Amino acid sequence: MNEIFSRNILIEKIGKEGQKKLNNTKVLVAGLGGLGSGVIANLTSLGIGTIGLLDCDKIEKTNLNRQFIHKYCDIGIEKTKSAQNWIKNYHPEIKTYAYNLKLDEYNYTNIIQNYDIIVDCFDSYVSKFLLNKIAIKNNKILIHAGVSEFQGQVTTIINKQTPCLNCLFEDIKNLNEYEVKGIVSPIINIIASIQSNEIIKIILNFDNILKGKLLTFSLFNYKLNILNFERNKNCSICNEH
Ligand SMILES: [Zn+2]
Repeated sequence: MNEIFSRNILIEKIGKEGQKKLNNTKVLVAGLGGLGSGVIANLTSLGIGTIGLLDCDKIEKTNLNRQFIHKYCDIGIEKTKSAQNWIKNYHPEIKTYAYNLKLDEYNYTNIIQNYDIIVDCFDSYVSKFLLNKIAIKNNKILIHAGVSEFQGQVTTIINKQTPCLNCLFEDIKNLNEYEVKGIVSPIINIIASIQSNEIIKIILNFDNILKGKLLTFSLFNYKLNILNFERNKNCSICNEH
């Protein structure tokens, strides 16, 4: 195990102890599309020892401009299966658990308790808000991201410590969930890498985690911003728990 991760271990801020912590970490990847592909590749390379894979979709041709862990020859198979195969081929010692289901208010309980951190790689805001609610209710760290066209955003949400997704974007009633938007692969990989980097920082107790901060980045004009945002005292999600 240590030979594979020797270049991680050489970093003073990681070292053998840090690598051990990463190996003992359990992360649930919610959504196995573009963001999920980047996050899975990074988590596997970092040596995150247990990875949960949640998605109810099957691979389609239109996924292949960005979802690079899924292959043309696997069109029609479940994304959970394809992701499991990818991890197994890359690094067989990493434990994976596949959850081929659509997340709802009731079916998460036996899943979520097994993980330290949840990574929001969903593409639907309805699913993102549900995941936010579940993470807050169960005191799980949630690393949110969203991507569109050439832009993306990341923030880390921790119950009682940071604002939640609902504090940030309360009114989603006007969002058209069924509108298919364009997206290019490079921004997805950058944003997925920032989500993955947050996991290193959280597990190894680094400073400058994106708690209460929304990082936005555009590949169109190369502008990066980090905006502070506050908890909404009237938030119906994070003030209940
Ligand atoms: Zn909130």
